[in-house]
Amino acid sequence: MALADSVLSELRRLVGPAQVLTLAEDLIPYSFDGTAVLRQLPGAVVFPADTPQVSAVLQLANRTRTPVVTRGSGTGLSGGSLPVAEGIVLCLVKLNRILEVDRANLTLHCEAGTVTQAVSEAAAAAGLFYPPDPGSMRISTVGGNVAENSGGLRGLKYGVTRNYVMGLEVVLADGEVLWTGNKCVKDVAGYSTRDLFVGSEGTLGVITRVLLRLIPKPAAKRTLVATFARMDEAAQTVSDIIAAGIIPCTLEFLDRTTIRCVEDYAKIGLPLDCEALLLMETDGHPAVVEEEAERMVAIARRNGCGDLRVAQSEEEATRLASARRTAFAALARVAPTTILEDITVPRSELAGMVRFVAAVAERHRLRVGTFGHMGDGNLHPTFLTDERNADEMHRVEEAFKELFAEAIRLGGTITGEHGVGLAKKAFLPAQAGDAQMRVMRELRRVLDPHGILNPGKMF
Ligand SMILES: Cc1cc2nc3c(=O)[nH]c(=O)nc-3n(C[C@H](O)[C@H](O)[C@H](O)COP(=O)(O)OP(=O)(O)OC[C@H]3O[C@@H](n4cnc5c(N)ncnc54)[C@H](O)[C@@H]3O)c2cc1C
Repeated sequence: MALADSVLSELRRLVGPAQVLTLAEDLIPYSFDGTAVLRQLPGAVVFPADTPQVSAVLQLANRTRTPVVTRGSGTGLSGGSLPVAEGIVLCLVKLNRILEVDRANLTLHCEAGTVTQAVSEAAAAAGLFYPPDPGSMRISTVGGNVAENSGGLRGLKYGVTRNYVMGLEVVLADGEVLWTGNKCVKDVAGYSTRDLFVGSEGTLGVITRVLLRLIPKPAAKRTLVATFARMDEAAQTVSDIIAAGIIPCTLEFLDRTTIRCVEDYAKIGLPLDCEALLLMETDGHPAVVEEEAERMVAIARRNGCGDLRVAQSEEEATRLASARRTAFAALARVAPTTILEDITVPRSELAGMVRFVAAVAERHRLRVGTFGHMGDGNLHPTFLTDERNADEMHRVEEAFKELFAEAIRLGGTITGEHGVGLAKKAFLPAQAGDAQMRVMRELRRVLDPHGILNPGKMF
């Protein structure tokens, strides 16, 4: 849908005519994100070059009550960057400069449109380590990671994006620029506004710069893959590893359907006669890594693992880890529409939840592959469907209702890392409760009184 001519001409004046897209064929690539089924053409896509331009666009939008959907790379899996008709998509990919790597303070300062992989590489070039590693890190932006509080494969040991955000520059809905945080390890002055913006999904402000915490690079890493004839054996292995005081940097699993799809796609040589596969990685001091790897092997054997491989080289480690890293892509090949969820439960409930997912899928006659961050209790049941089949899509919706209700009943969450966005907003009140919903609504109203930032998302 078209924006008012006066708004469009002002946008062109603010950021330059070449940085404003309005033709339908140019808008289509920005009419969806990584979420299946959801599509909406925006009124315009705008590419600001710096914070003052972001501020100028927001001042205009606020004055004219034009909706603004901030976008990084559009890899989101909850419809968060889905455009609003007659709204502006504010795409931050041109704000992609790494401004500083500070080895004395172990920080990295960059613009929000910087690709996550570039941050990881800049840290590594300085001999340091940026742990958050969402599976999309070669494409996703740091701003998107902060706005979704993204996790990754190393979350069990190293935490999620929030644990690495030390400071943020945020442009508020009326265009005012706010800086929150600093390079101090400790700072308790006032409310932690910085934390408010982490995970805010583009509803409270536009993040334009990020100050990230880095840590020393682990000196060694060991990668192991074990297969199990029964899911319970894999789940018990995870419990025993944690109970033994080992916190692996990666503890991921694939179910039978996912293993088959991955093998078909990536030809890693995975055994197919198993119900579950665990990818386990430990990193740190070489002596500790060796000892922990040996103990994890013993625990997996004690729980009856079948095939067990310990990578003997960096290349083999990368190949084994690719079994997990390619899971989504491998599943996406086998059906026209792949709907990936990210319910999360306390670790003790994980094996039961995996069985519940399989039972729900069977009852609704749906194909599902489940993989995920077993060490975090974070599951990705991935439904292999076809959005042109209305009956099947209805059954998928019914299945999701049951899965979300069960996750909440078990003390879990409807989303461990992908956010609420559009896809899960109907389920948020059941988890958050009335008081929390009211506080969140009021916070949003204070920061965005005219409701121009990502309207209709989250709640
Ligand atoms: C193959 C694949 C693998 C994935 N693996 C993981 C994973 O392991 N872990 C995980 O957590 N997620 C994963 N994701 C989901 C997704 O990549 C993350 O949510 C990512 O952080 C989104 O970044 P983006 O730059 O693409 O943001 P977008 O999709 O463009 O935006 C996401 C949300 O953030 C808001 N936003 C974006 N930038 C800003 C900003 N600068 N200021 C304010 N709001 C902003 C948007 O409005 C939207 O609500 C995966 C996705 C894919 C497709």
